[in-house]
Amino acid sequence: MSAHRCPGCDYVYDETKGAPREGFPAGTAWSDIPDDWCCPDCAVREKVDFITE
Ligand SMILES: [Zn+2]
Repeated sequence: MSAHRCPGCDYVYDETKGAPREGFPAGTAWSDIPDDWCCPDCAVREKVDFITE
């Protein structure tokens, strides 16, 4: 499991938590997130911009 941080607003996608409000339940792997998914907090950055921690 890994975490991925938005470089724009510091939102963190944690695979162990998922993003339920985005439709990704806890345990959803980062690789299962669509490439065109936008950051749910700032909606400016996309998945490809996220930094793996
Ligand atoms: Zn963001």
